[in-house]
Amino acid sequence: MNCIFCKIVNGEIPCSKVYEDEYCLAFKDLNPAAPVHVLVVPKTHIESVDRTDAENIDTVAKVLLALPKVAKALSLENGYRVITNVGEDGGQTVKHLHFHILGGIKLAEKLN
Ligand code: AMP
Ligand code: ZN
Repeated sequence: MNCIFCKIVNGEIPCSKVYEDEYCLAFKDLNPAAPVHVLVVPKTHIESVDRTDAENIDTVAKVLLALPKVAKALSLENGYRVITNVGEDGGQTVKHLHFHILGGIKLAEKLN
């Protein structure tokens, strides 16, 4: 499959890794929108959170379980924002589920 995040997971494309476990990988976003901008992705391909189902819910849950660990590794004690985009209107450009973790600054309230 020609998926950039699958390629990052399997090492074909390099990344700046900040956290990894059996189920997920977290790495710095190439084009950061905040002082801290990390993407947390499952190691298996799921198109988006809209594709969550009874079969992959454990994998999705493992990614959620990793979020506080990633936030701790990034010293985001003061808070952070988690975003996952879905489809065209949601602004999703990479069709492999990923949670953006944004922080390191007081983020604006406006989301669009
Ligand atoms: P989205 O628009 O929610 O699909 O987010 C995709 C994100 O992936 C964007 O913020 C990109 O900057 C980021 N991105 C794309 N390619 C890479 C890459 N090779 N390494 C790190 N981040 C990437
Ligand atoms: Zn993928």
